[in-house]
Amino acid sequence: MTINARTDPPTGGLGRTLIRLMMRPAWIAACEPLGDRFRLVTLEGAALRGVSWTPGQKVQIAMGSAFVARTYTPMDWDAVQGRTRFLGYAHGEGPGSDWLRSLAPGAQCDVFGPRASLNATHLAGPLVVFGDETSMGLACALAAQDPTRSLACVFEVADLEAAEAVTARLGLSRAALFRKATDEAHLDTIGEALSSLAGAGASFVLTGRAAAIQKVRGELKRRAVAPRRILTKAYWAKGKAGLD
Ligand SMILES: Cc1cc2nc3c(=O)[nH]c(=O)nc-3n(C[C@H](O)[C@H](O)[C@H](O)COP(=O)(O)OP(=O)(O)OC[C@H]3O[C@@H](n4cnc5c(N)ncnc54)[C@H](O)[C@@H]3O)c2cc1C
Repeated sequence: MTINARTDPPTGGLGRTLIRLMMRPAWIAACEPLGDRFRLVTLEGAALRGVSWTPGQKVQIAMGSAFVARTYTPMDWDAVQGRTRFLGYAHGEGPGSDWLRSLAPGAQCDVFGPRASLNATHLAGPLVVFGDETSMGLACALAAQDPTRSLACVFEVADLEAAEAVTARLGLSRAALFRKATDEAHLDTIGEALSSLAGAGASFVLTGRAAAIQKVRGELKRRAVAPRRILTKAYWAKGKAGLD
């Protein structure tokens, strides 16, 4: 069964039964605020032990009902201790943003997954992760997957100063950060920055905002980057709630 992140919640017994059957109960072991909008969240629980996880996979967290979930990317997963971390970005209005802002250690939650989302293991050469605030956790997971591989991060962000503090805290201090412009002009600059990396034989993982991914992918194609060197996964799209 698929957890439909967009459906309005039928509440009650069925939802509780589904949560019990399909989701892993966990609790918030830590929730570190990184500036106003970011939360570095540590989940723990016996049900998180013995889990097989690959960097790039996703989890869906129930927002009070099995029928309303929001998706996040584990940065690491300790299957012996039963512990995982993700970086949540409370962008504004929505159940996921509200949940992140409300988190306190000890709170319970229900986790579906980990499940397949992006698998970068077959990508050769240096790796470039393009995305935004929602992609920083993925970059951490991929950086840890193969510390010998060269990994460059390029993020479009709403608040440069806040993003700089977060990338420094996460050890992504070499990330190139670009302030989002309403006319999308920053994506032209990003396209140019990526072209030199494309020439060096890099592979590209494009995540975050759907419209930005589309534009950057178009730019890479224009520069003759082979499709097998590009992986994409939209993490959110304007006007669409709860992509998974
Ligand atoms: C595979 C996958 C992995 C993901 N991993 C992460 C992760 O590790 N960390 C993380 O923070 N997010 C991650 N996301 C994105 C996150 O699930 C979405 O941003 C989600 O929509 C937020 O839920 P919400 O309830 O706050 O907003 P929603 O109710 O889902 O959305 C309300 C509206 O807000 C807007 N919106 C949604 N997300 C954003 C955003 N980031 N910035 C600006 N506007 C937005 C849209 O216009 C949407 O219509 C991931 C998504 C996917 C699909």
